[in-house]
Amino acid sequence: MSEDYTKRLVEQFVQRCRQHGLKVTPQRLAIYRQLLTSSEHPSADVVHKKIVQEYPTISFDTVNRTLLTFADIGVIETVESHSGVRRYDTDIAPHHHLHCIRCGNIVDFCDSDLDAIKVPERIARQFTVLGKRVSIRGICRACAEGACRAS
Ligand SMILES: [Zn+2]
Ligand SMILES: [Zn+2]
Repeated sequence: MSEDYTKRLVEQFVQRCRQHGLKVTPQRLAIYRQLLTSSEHPSADVVHKKIVQEYPTISFDTVNRTLLTFADIGVIETVESHSGVRRYDTDIAPHHHLHCIRCGNIVDFCDSDLDAIKVPERIARQFTVLGKRVSIRGICRACAEGACRAS
């Protein structure tokens, strides 16, 4: 992620917080910045482990609540996860996911054909569509190669 792009996202974040009457505290900013630097779609637990290095007194609960609030105001998105643990995505631009079922990694990719997928009309009629994302499940190269060595 380029310096410029990061700066823009942080500005957007601050603006969005203000719109929603959310105070931009140093901790909130630190949590958001932490999310920006990780492309791994971290869980609240992962974010907490990193943020305590900067803010030793911050509780898991605070981090967890902050992430839920961020998702509420639309600065991050929640990501589907097969383990049932909620994961977060800072990239709110259209993109799709490769999800490795072995290591749980979620990798972003872009594809304009997939962006253009149409929501069936019967669904659009009864469901307010806020976004669409294609999630491709499978086994990543590292896991596939690991499996080879093991056998
Ligand atoms: Zn994997
Ligand atoms: Zn993503």
